Amino acid sequence: MSCIFCDVAEGRTSARIIREADDLVAFYDINAQAPVHILVIPKRHIPTINDVKADDAVLIGKMVLLAREIMEEQGYDRKGYRLVMNCNNDGGQTVYHLHLHALAGRWMSWPPG
Ligand code: 5GP
Ligand code: ZN
Repeated sequence: MSCIFCDVAEGRTSARIIREADDLVAFYDINAQAPVHILVIPKRHIPTINDVKADDAVLIGKMVLLAREIMEEQGYDRKGYRLVMNCNNDGGQTVYHLHLHALAGRWMSWPPG
């Protein structure tokens, strides 16, 4: 089955990549919802947060730390930012390859619409 984020991870489709690690890639979202909108994905295909296993705990932690590092690098650590992981339909998930959104550069309302 084709997966757009596997294509990004494996270099089959172009993306504005910010950082690549052994098991992760960070790149800019194609349809930014904030002045800065980054996605962090595992290279391995995991469809949703429901499919994450206990053994993946370190991987998920690394996703959060990489997003934090990029937010710091881009100067948003003090002003703040939002990390979001959407799950399935009601969560607003549209790409079924796990990803962490990092949004910054504007005030983000709560609760989300
Ligand atoms: P979701 O709604 O599943 O949480 O988020 C999927 C995100 O992936 C959306 O924000 C969407 O703009 C982004 N996206 C979808 N296709 C592509 C693509 O081909 N390249 C990039 N860079 N982002 C994409
Ligand atoms: Zn995938």
